[in-house]
Amino acid sequence: MVEEFDAVDVIRTKRDRGVLSDAQIDWVIDAYTRGVVAEEQMAALAMAIFLNGMNRHEIARWANAMINSGERMDFSSLPRPTADKHSTGGVGDKITLPLAPLVAAFGVAVPQLSGRGLGHTGGTLDKMESIKGWQANISNDHMYRQLGTGSGAIICAAGSGLAPADKKLYALRDITSTVECIPLIATSIMSKKIAEGTGSLVLDVKVGSGAFMKNIEDARALAHTMVDLGTDAGVTTVALLSDMSVPLGLTIGNALEVRESVEVLAGGGPADVIELTLALAREMLTAAGQPDADPAAALKDGRAMDTWREMVREQGGDPDAPLPVGANSEDVLAGASGVLTDMDALKLGVASWRLGAGRARKEDPVQAGAGIELFARPGDHVEKGQKLLTLHTDTPERFERAKESLQGTLTIDPGGHRTPRESVVLERIS
Ligand code: URA
Repeated sequence: MVEEFDAVDVIRTKRDRGVLSDAQIDWVIDAYTRGVVAEEQMAALAMAIFLNGMNRHEIARWANAMINSGERMDFSSLPRPTADKHSTGGVGDKITLPLAPLVAAFGVAVPQLSGRGLGHTGGTLDKMESIKGWQANISNDHMYRQLGTGSGAIICAAGSGLAPADKKLYALRDITSTVECIPLIATSIMSKKIAEGTGSLVLDVKVGSGAFMKNIEDARALAHTMVDLGTDAGVTTVALLSDMSVPLGLTIGNALEVRESVEVLAGGGPADVIELTLALAREMLTAAGQPDADPAAALKDGRAMDTWREMVREQGGDPDAPLPVGANSEDVLAGASGVLTDMDALKLGVASWRLGAGRARKEDPVQAGAGIELFARPGDHVEKGQKLLTLHTDTPERFERAKESLQGTLTIDPGGHRTPRESVVLERIS
């Protein structure tokens, strides 16, 4: 087969700040998926895009080419409307767990095709796998049944046929320092979501040290780019910007986060997790045609919990089985009395990862019981000797490295002041 372009010319166009043509974009994504464009060539192109950007038209074409690299799912034959949520990833972000059954409790199908964690942000599948018996890999038939006539909620692994170009490209970006790039993040996320075939999508774009986007301007730009891509593809898309400068909730780590999610489903749990779960649920329900639904009531009266238990059982899990806990634990105490002024999300995420909750390479196992429990939040007054954190792991030799990554955070100011965060949701973009 004679190739239409030469990868070197495509790279040069972007290196010299040119605009890629539709044909160049279609070809380069297709040829990369086929293995004709080499990894080092795609790495060079990703870096050129990282440095020189893409315009709106290029971004839309790039996303489309990624969608066309694989199969498309179609949920339009389901007897229920579909609503999906995607988070750009953060520390302690367990929201999918309470959110999917909560929205499904209102008769909306919620397909959450999720991934595993890489680096300091946790993966939803890793969290769910700490539930005894629960299966992430299920057939398409099972998925349609669970969504159409079962609980209505599903959290499962995305099949390998969905946007395969993104699978290759994301792995490449991860090892070439080209992840934090708005056009590449937006097209990566949206190609998968559009290929997945949901009717509506709510995006949770994280801002702060524990997120890809460290400041609000970048988060806004990413949110607008993704909302435009979704809208142009006929998917009703809304984005909420949410704070990720401190971890979400009071737990980081797989089984610990399941425990906290179950607390929320039982009508309790930390205020920030409840706030974000309800804000996203309201957006999803509105997009699915139920603007007056009251998700807070469904958390209180047990409807969301019933749906969670059904969803877990449908995938072989035992919702009553005790969750694993790390075999070893160590407390981190306040070194002084005063106001806790800093609890950096990234540093806590890295510490939890080093305890064994995350993986450094795709093939690494994770420890279900590893992670961190938080006992104070920025703005709290703490007394010297008071417990601030408990670290958990199965492998105690990890404590030292985990504690190293906490250096420079957990700052206590004796005369200090920090206003506690008022709201985790910062802005809405539609
Ligand atoms: N999540 C994705 O799926 N892709 C990115 O590029 C970043 C986060």
